[in-house]
Amino acid sequence: MRVPTVAELAERLSRPLTLELKSGCQNRAVSGGLEGLLRGPLANPFPQVRELLDGYAGWSPPEREQALGRALETLAAKAAKTAPARQRPPRVAASKVTAQETVPPAPTGEQLPMDAPIERLDSGRGGERKLKGLGLHQLRDLLHYYPHRHEDRRALPSLMNVDEGQKVTVQGVVVSRFKRTPKPRMTILEATLETEGGNRVKATWFNQPWMERQLREGARVIVTGRVKKFGRTAQLAAEHLESLDSAADSLSTGRIVGVYDAKEGISQEFLRRAAWRALQAAPLDDYLPAHWRREYGLTPLADALQGIHFPADEAHLSRAMGRLRFDEYLFLELRMLLQGEDAVLQGKRFEAHPEDIDRFEGALPFRFTGAQRRVLGEIVEEMRSDRQMARLVQGDVGSGKTAVAACALYLAVRDGYQGALMAPTEILARQHYANLSGYLGPLDVRVGLLVGAMTPKQKLEMQGRIALGEIDIVVGTQALIQDNVQWDNLGLAVIDEEHRFGVMQRRRLLSSRPDVLVMSATPIPRSLALTAYGDLELSVIDELPPGRTPVETKLIQDGYRAQAYGFVMGQIRQGRQAYVVTALIEENENLELLAATELAENLAEMLPEARIGLLHGKMTAAEKDEVMDAFRAHEFDLLVSTTVIEVGVDVPNASVMVIENAERFGLSQLHQLRGRVGRGSAKSYCVLIAGEMSKKTEQRLRIIEGSTDGFVIAEADLKLRGPGEIRGTRQSGIPDLRLGDLANDAEVIEQARRLAKHILSNDPRLEHPRLQYLRSELQNRSQSVAFREVI
Ligand code: ADP
Ligand code: MG
Repeated sequence: MRVPTVAELAERLSRPLTLELKSGCQNRAVSGGLEGLLRGPLANPFPQVRELLDGYAGWSPPEREQALGRALETLAAKAAKTAPARQRPPRVAASKVTAQETVPPAPTGEQLPMDAPIERLDSGRGGERKLKGLGLHQLRDLLHYYPHRHEDRRALPSLMNVDEGQKVTVQGVVVSRFKRTPKPRMTILEATLETEGGNRVKATWFNQPWMERQLREGARVIVTGRVKKFGRTAQLAAEHLESLDSAADSLSTGRIVGVYDAKEGISQEFLRRAAWRALQAAPLDDYLPAHWRREYGLTPLADALQGIHFPADEAHLSRAMGRLRFDEYLFLELRMLLQGEDAVLQGKRFEAHPEDIDRFEGALPFRFTGAQRRVLGEIVEEMRSDRQMARLVQGDVGSGKTAVAACALYLAVRDGYQGALMAPTEILARQHYANLSGYLGPLDVRVGLLVGAMTPKQKLEMQGRIALGEIDIVVGTQALIQDNVQWDNLGLAVIDEEHRFGVMQRRRLLSSRPDVLVMSATPIPRSLALTAYGDLELSVIDELPPGRTPVETKLIQDGYRAQAYGFVMGQIRQGRQAYVVTALIEENENLELLAATELAENLAEMLPEARIGLLHGKMTAAEKDEVMDAFRAHEFDLLVSTTVIEVGVDVPNASVMVIENAERFGLSQLHQLRGRVGRGSAKSYCVLIAGEMSKKTEQRLRIIEGSTDGFVIAEADLKLRGPGEIRGTRQSGIPDLRLGDLANDAEVIEQARRLAKHILSNDPRLEHPRLQYLRSELQNRSQSVAFREVI
């Protein structure tokens, strides 16, 4: 094939351009012709031009105009440059052409299915690898790879008209650059940009010397930063930099632009182009039928995807977010409802005699609180129905959940059933075993223990007694739901701290369809409970038994550590015991162990009188038990621990909890840890030691200093840190919400839940042909393999 000359190309290119601009219409034939040209003869000698015009068919007339203008400029520049190159031997040029031809572009305008592999999208050289590097394997992944924020680049402001401290984005060419090192460990990089309007703007980078590379003179960049004014001049304290390739990308300028999460070596322009192409190729149909969209005020999917990546204006962006956020919750709720399907089925039906409740309470050394009584009422009512109970009992540590659960188990046993109580750890299982034996032993209930640390012989014996019905209530860990446990007649299962168990595990236990009570000491705001535990009914014990003195909590900077431990020593001298908890940011048990060991050594030096023990996640269950038993027996005074003691451990004589690096914990988690003390009669204390902390972190930690109400703390935590950080929610099946904000979306969640219920009430397994797309989308959005098996 003859390679066209530059002059010919420019001529052929300019023709459709004039046509386009004059008519102002979207002439598919013309643009198709142009693209054909670019794919064919134009592709090889001028990849840059091709790049610039890729996606042309889908653009608006002004976008086309802009891009064509640039393409012509580029060609003109090429024409000037290539003139002397004619003397080069033609063979070189030819071999170059062949090399490039090995990457055949996909035909443009091709519609791909949502699950098309990313290879089928023409994402340019190395594009496929980059996209996969971001975990994007299918067309859908790319389409749902939303920008994490948007920047308004429609009119770039002049700095002097902007208020001090305000965030702005400026586009320009680097005209000069200067690096200063005012102090040994400080570099300041200053660049002067010339904007299109000819204004000069100075931008500065502190301690980011590597930025220098991108700030070559003549480079076209877009800088986002905060305005700082010095008298009559203004500067930009740069926060974000984007380099524009030699010819600016029209997807990145002059519009509201999305900013994506990227990695080293992946540019924003690349991602925008990839998103653009994905939108071109995306199917136009919608998994939500039009009448539902109308009813819930939702924009069509194609409009929403376009709007999240390339909004035409604010209204477009907001309706896109509205739709996509709704969808996130819709799929979440559909998943929850489908998962919980079993719970709607028939369960056990108990008599639950009122006399038995009285007898249980009569044997207690205390009276139930009002909240306990109310929750017990909710449980009993459901036990008496023949629906399978699936209920979450939430309440702060020490609010008396276990006592209520013990009563429910007693009722089940009185009706001739067996009961089970599952705990996440062996320590907790033993503790529950002790508590239940205390509550139920006097009432002639046979309580047994089944944990991993038992010898095979002991286990076998216990399993035999369970199967024969010689044990009424079994307390245990995961060992309980292993296949070889045969129940004689399991009626009620209580699961403590359910989020430690996977959904699959719960379902296994459910195979004999007992009623199920889940106890959680992690107070969860309602919006979160609706999603995380969408398949469970909710009961809340929101009152503590009388006579508790709240744990006194103090936040200190680590400069005052010595004083803090002085106080701890004072308590130890009074015969009390203390916990010291430490954690790292990463969940790396080796590093955590190292930190805990170092801390223990450090404390041994600081407090030579104290007997110090160490507990960490690398210990076997038996080793942990040994340490806990020794601590409970007061064989040492101070227990240094990684977060393994977080759940439910009970040592009444412990009156101080010190939390090192408190800034690294979530509020709910701190609250949980604090619940380890204040379990006896002595006044108890919690000392939060924080390292470096921002204002925001301090503000967060002050909340825990000021409140002992788990629900108040959880709400605050959700608002401040988002749901992913709240302990337990990840494991319990909340996917990462990309747009949803659980702290503020209660209303959207209710709506989505309503539609989800409506959809499933007509078609419980999504079998209608019209819902096939919805169904496959649902399957694709559910990462959990277990769930894919369900539908
Ligand atoms: P949770 O399981 O919510 O952490 P527990 O049921 O273990 O709470 O109760 C914590 C402690 O309070 C236990 O020692 C328990 O005996 C005691 N307790 C429970 N309910 C009451 C009550 N109504 N009045 C007084 N003490 C109570
Ligand atoms: Mg029932």
